[in-house]
Amino acid sequence: MATDLKRIALLGATGSIGRQALEIVDGHPDLEVVAFASGSQPLDELAAAYDVEHFQVGGDLTELLEASEPDLVLNAVVGFAGVGATLWALERGVTLALANKESLVAAGDLAIAAWKRGGGLLLPVDSEHSAVFQCLEGRARETVDSIVLTASGGPFRNRSRADLESVSVEEALAHPTWSMGPKITVDSATLANKGLELIEAHYLFGLTYERIEVVVHPSSVVHSVVRFRDGAAFAHLGYPDMRVPISYALTYPERRATAAPALDFTAGMTLEFEPPDLERFPLLELAREAGERGGTYPCAFNAANEVAVAAFLDERIGFLEIAPLVEDALAKVGGAPARDLPELVEADAGARRVAEGRLAAA
Ligand code: NAD
Ligand code: MG
Repeated sequence: MATDLKRIALLGATGSIGRQALEIVDGHPDLEVVAFASGSQPLDELAAAYDVEHFQVGGDLTELLEASEPDLVLNAVVGFAGVGATLWALERGVTLALANKESLVAAGDLAIAAWKRGGGLLLPVDSEHSAVFQCLEGRARETVDSIVLTASGGPFRNRSRADLESVSVEEALAHPTWSMGPKITVDSATLANKGLELIEAHYLFGLTYERIEVVVHPSSVVHSVVRFRDGAAFAHLGYPDMRVPISYALTYPERRATAAPALDFTAGMTLEFEPPDLERFPLLELAREAGERGGTYPCAFNAANEVAVAAFLDERIGFLEIAPLVEDALAKVGGAPARDLPELVEADAGARRVAEGRLAAA
């Protein structure tokens, strides 16, 4: 067992990923939390319990990171708010365990450039991307044919379009296989989450969009698949349990034991797959288009989606109004590439203004 302490900055400590990460930390004395951040929940009790000196509610995450000097940043913030921390870690070659997919989607080009300069590890925490990362490990890139991201299909997989008109926030928050924060849960119901993950995969694995497929797999047991050029396909299986990819990232490359149960093949398990329905769930296709257009279109997709999801959660718009709001914003913004973080922040703000404007006019 390694004796060196791994100093972890836990951003988004009070969330679904943050709390499960603490469960992993609790099981390993050599994992030490040195910083906590949240958006609005107080952290005094948590900081006292873990004897953490550096903690911050809201504010500039890079100041916290500068002060706490972590070896690993677990970015489990929700939304674009995580972008500064992602770029900070990648630029410095500090290991980044990334749950905050929005930052990589919005800042993809800047993030990859920073990652190359920094030369550190970028370990995906998103279950599908952790699965792909593990299937790819140790294999030459030219042997890879394509990847397949699995999607549960969310709570509305079998609802008609007419039914979707009137679904409630409560119904959207009742995810069939994963228990997660409200924003990603709504994204899973619209399939925007899989759209964000498509763009996330493009940047993480350097694959063109034609080589990334999405397939609906309701039980979420197959976390993703990599197809190789000889016809072999490698899949990563397990019960849906975020502690597995979190632990993998926090203890990489050791793959330590977790409390997750082993897969049981004796209980009549069947694995089903079907193509996604892009008519009922247009955000997946809108994300693909935004990704292919590149520049700041993925940033705008993310920004407009954040505005739309917040409006849905506030019951200002219905479920079926989320996608048109994003589509409208994408049609109105320019997608010129951002040269630096201030330009990206402006692109994000611009797309939010367009989306907010449409909300106000409705
Ligand atoms: P959550 O809503 O449960 O928690 C979000 C956390 O971020 C909270 O601690 C909140 O205080 C913090 N936060 C919000 N704004 C902040 C800000 N401005 N500065 C600092 N902290 C801020 O969300 P979650 O489900 O834990 O998801 C977190 C991220 O992980 C999201 O990007 C999500 O897409 C991704 N993710 C989550 C899961 C999951 O199972 N929950 C799976 C895959 C990916
Ligand atoms: Mg995922």
